[in-house]
Parts: sequence; structure tokens; C-alpha cells
Amino acid sequence: MKCYREEEAVDYCIVGVGSAGAVLLQRLARAGFKVVGLEAGPFWDTERDWVSDEAGSHQLYWTDLRITGGSDPIALGENNSGRGVGGGSVHWAAFVPRLHPSDFRTYTEDGVGCDWPISYKDLKPYYELIEREMPAAGPAWFTWGDPHGYPYGPHPMGGVGDTLVRGCTKLGIRVCAGGPVAILSGSRADRPHCIYRGFCIQGCKVGAKQSTLISHVPDAIAHGAEIRDRSMVARIHLGPNRRVNAVTYFDRDGREHVQRARAIIVCGYAIETPRLLFNSACPGFEQGLANSSGLLGHYLMVQAGNVVAGRFPDLVRLYKAPPAHAMTEEFYETDPKRDFARGFAVQTVGPLPIAFAKQMAKAKGAWGWGLREVMMDYNHWSTLGVLGEILPAYDNKIELAEEKDDFGLPVAHVTFSLHENDHKMIRFAVKKVEEILLAAGAKEVVEEQRYAHLVGAARMGTRPENSIVDGFCRTHDIANLFICDGSVFPTQGSANPGLTIQALAARTADYLNQQGEAIFTSSHVSREKPPVRRDLSPPVTFGSGVPRV
Ligand SMILES: Cc1cc2nc3c(=O)[nH]c(=O)nc-3n(C[C@H](O)[C@H](O)[C@H](O)COP(=O)(O)OP(=O)(O)OC[C@H]3O[C@@H](n4cnc5c(N)ncnc54)[C@H](O)[C@@H]3O)c2cc1C
Ligand code: SF4
Repeated sequence: MKCYREEEAVDYCIVGVGSAGAVLLQRLARAGFKVVGLEAGPFWDTERDWVSDEAGSHQLYWTDLRITGGSDPIALGENNSGRGVGGGSVHWAAFVPRLHPSDFRTYTEDGVGCDWPISYKDLKPYYELIEREMPAAGPAWFTWGDPHGYPYGPHPMGGVGDTLVRGCTKLGIRVCAGGPVAILSGSRADRPHCIYRGFCIQGCKVGAKQSTLISHVPDAIAHGAEIRDRSMVARIHLGPNRRVNAVTYFDRDGREHVQRARAIIVCGYAIETPRLLFNSACPGFEQGLANSSGLLGHYLMVQAGNVVAGRFPDLVRLYKAPPAHAMTEEFYETDPKRDFARGFAVQTVGPLPIAFAKQMAKAKGAWGWGLREVMMDYNHWSTLGVLGEILPAYDNKIELAEEKDDFGLPVAHVTFSLHENDHKMIRFAVKKVEEILLAAGAKEVVEEQRYAHLVGAARMGTRPENSIVDGFCRTHDIANLFICDGSVFPTQGSANPGLTIQALAARTADYLNQQGEAIFTSSHVSREKPPVRRDLSPPVTFGSGVPRV
């Protein structure tokens, strides 16, 4: 791997080599820029570090201290951020639905949330590109939102998917079987197809599931990017002319370093990105870097992720197959017949035994001998998850806590409360999932309240007064500082966010490429849309051996 000297100003320093960071790193390196990625977690060796074992996989998450509060606090840790090269894509389930066109205009269409500064049309070419780079497997015709097909065919059904398809079919609800999911349904180059053992959230030792660690990082390194792992960025430096010029970071031994850069892209996700900007407060930006709006940290979102489990007389074997393999988006959009705005999706969830035990302890209050009895019955249960759109709210936020981490940096304080529309949506969604399971033949249903997927807290928007970044992820306040990760979402829809995050990163990379030297030298902010650069895709995305849509 290429090694840059710290005193040499690289073109781009990327903070966090996760879902978005790795896509940016790969494209900017391919385009010939000098790029360094600083990643707080380790550079995983998939053979050495990943295990097909639930108990051995907790290291994949960001489990450092965070303070959580509000009237409906979010459980942080295993259900949230990643840590290590590949970030959250290492432990994601890899469901990859697109946002719907309406998601970009919820205020205009439904009078709730807010509009994005970009439209579905702006992102569509990047959805198509990233679906091939992953590649995504799914039906030839995905019927909701902007209907489309997938490069790889759908996966066979597991027991949980069967119950979803059976229940929906009985109730006349359209359902999608076998995806969309970033898991190979046929081998590609040196990656084998899925072997259906269900350890996707533990890292997929096999390499069938996409993570940016395997899909983008090798190409980034081959084109001259440097990744420094176990490097925790503590603060971003503001130099003359309101431009950033370096970051301070701690290496694996706790030693402090400064890396100079001509531009900086923060890709630390919805909690760590605002935390880093708050910790980088300086004269002129006393409330946090790039926070002239005062909105940094606000409008944090998480999706409703309530799980409903149903017990069936026949064996379901919920551990077999990837957890992500069937869904319905039939309830996604606002329906005037319901008493709430926006909606939800229903997706398969396949908890392995430890996760299932935790769910049952919460959902049934099972403990001791009772929990052992439930666990002996594990193979008879099916679990379906709500993925519901919680609306953005100003009072859901990240701030700095009094408490500090091992480097002496204040940790994040997360405040989260549900609002009336959210409560109504969740009640309706849970009831609908119960109906689906009962229609499929379940004899008992129980529910676990849960959240999934953080986004927001450094939202994109049209103006410095209403947002932190513009439609190309450039901070309104500082011309050579960008934020590109899940934190820039103004609203979240009912689609899992990972595909959109990677697509936004590919679009941002095209913008940076088109702007060239101007990013490093000029304060002029161009809003010109860049051409879509398919030539920057990793190898084996196009050409021979790749199925055609
Ligand atoms: C169990 C689970 C299942 C999921 N399943 C799905 C799914 O099926 N589909 C889907 O779309 N999404 C899923 N997600 C969510 C998805 O993984 C995330 O939304 C996505 O990975 C976020 O991308 P990101 O680039 O914003 O951040 P990340 O991928 O989390 O990357 C951020 C990186 O920045 C690093 N970092 C942070 N701060 C610093 C710092 N100060 N210095 C250096 N490095 C730093 C972190 O270590 C991390 O590696 C799932 C998440 C979890 C937890
Ligand atoms: S089920 Fe498929 S994608 Fe999941 S861990 Fe196994 S091989 Fe990987």
C-alpha cells in the first residue's frame, strides 16, 4: 500500500473508511488524486478476524461509551454504527432497496419532514451503478417506488421468507421474494455465491455479501490510496481563508499525529460525524465546525425496527438463509385512509440464537427455565421486522457529553423521543405484521420494540440557514470541507439506508472529479451536475462475465 508522509498535504483526507468513505476513496484514487483514509477501527482480515459464530462478532460494532437519553432512548452499540475498514457494511444484513421518488419531497407531497435539495432523478444513475458494483440480487421487476430490475437474480426462499410470502399472499398484499440484497446469488470473479448459513451480520466470512471492504477497498489500494487503520481523528483544523488544512489523529498506540490535506471529507456516520465537528470548534465556529446554522446534531433519525415473532406448528428454521431475503413495500407511501403520514416496509429478520434469546426475553418476558423452553422451540419461530419512517424532529439530537473517551475527547450524548405520527405509524405497522404472521399460520405472536439504522444530524439542504451541507455534500460554511455519509439525510423513508449512502458517495466523487483543482483553490461553489463516471467503477462491474439487466 502507498504511504504518504504526514507533512505532505494529500489532496483528500477521508475520515472514516466505511460504506461511504470507501466508495469515495476508491473513486478519487482511481481518478488520480492523492488520498488518505483514516479509520478508527481495524483493517479486517476476513479469514483471521471473522467467525461464523454469533458470540465472536461483537467487535464489529462501535461499542465505545455513548450517552443515550430522551423519552424513547435508542439502544446504541450492536444495532448501530460500524467500526473498522468497511464500517457498517461489514455487519449489515445487506438489504438494498432504493428510496422512493416521494422520499425526496415529503414536505411538498405530504406536508411533513422536508424536501431534499436533490431529487430521485439525480440519484437514479448512481443507484444503478452501485447496484452493479455490489452487485445486488433481486427480482427482474421490483414494483414499488420507481420500478426497476436487478443485475443478479433473486435468492431462494428461507423459512422466514416463506412465512412472509404466504401471509402476504393470503391477505392480497404484494410481496417481493429473494431480495433486493447485496449478496451474490451466483459467483462473480473471485467471490463465491451465498451458501445460506445465515451469518451475514457476523461479517460473511465467505465473501458472498458485499461490504465496501471487499467491493471497493482493494481497488482503492491498487490505485494508490492509503488507509491508516486504528487512527482516530480527534479534530479538524481550520486554516486561513476559512479553509480546512489538516486533521489531528491518534494512532493505535495513542500517539498524536497531524495529517495535512487540501480538502477533507468526513464520513464517520450519524453520531461520530457531528461529534467530530463539535470537537473541532474553534474561533469563528465556537458551536462546532461548519455549524453557522446551529443545526449540527439536530434532526437525528432512526427507523422503527419493531420485530414481530410468530410461532408455527411446523419447522421454520429461521437461521437458514440470509436474514435479508424478502420484503413488502406495500405500505410505504402516505395513505389518506390512515391516521398518519408516510409509512413502513415489512422485511424478513433472521436472528441467530443469542439475538433471538434477547428478543424473547424482551418480547415474552421469558427468563430462566421459561427462556430455555422458548429456546428449545427456536426452530418453530419466524421473525418479521417493521422498517418504519420516523419523521425528522429538531429535538432528536447529538450533543457533546461531559464524559470523555480514552483519548480525552467528549463522547456523544444522544437524545431521542418519538412523536405522535411515529407512535401511530408504529402501532399500525405492528398490527399489520401480526396479521401477516397469523395469516401465514402462526399460532402465537409477540412483539419486541426496537429501532434500526441511524441517519441525519448533519442534514443536506438548499441554504446555510436550513442545513449543514448542500446537495453535493459540501458544507455551506467551508468550501473544502465535505460530509458524506448517513448523517446528511434530511428524511429517511422506509428503505434501508446503505445503498443510498453508497450512491451519494459515488455522486459526490463525480462532483469532486468534475471540479478538479477548484476544490482546493477556489471559494466559488459550483452547482453544476457532474457527468456520471462509469469508468471509475471497480473492475468486474461491467464487461464480460457480468450479467446484463
Ligand atoms: C446490524 C445492522 C444491520 C444493518 N443492515 C442493513 C441493511 O440490511 N441494509 C442497509 O442499507 N443498512 C443496514 N444497516 C445500516 C448500514 O450499515 C449503515 O447505515 C451504513 O453502513 C452507514 O454508512 P456510513 O458510511 O454513513 O457509516 P459507516 O459505514 O458506519 O462508516 C463510518 C466509519 O467511520 C469510522 N469513524 C467514525 N468516526 C471516526 C473518527 N473520528 N476517526 C476515524 N474514523 C472514524 C467508523 O469506525 C466507521 O468505520 C445495518 C446496520 C446494522 C448495525
Ligand atoms: S448466508 Fe450467504 S451472505 Fe450470509 S454469511 Fe452465509 S454466505 Fe454470507
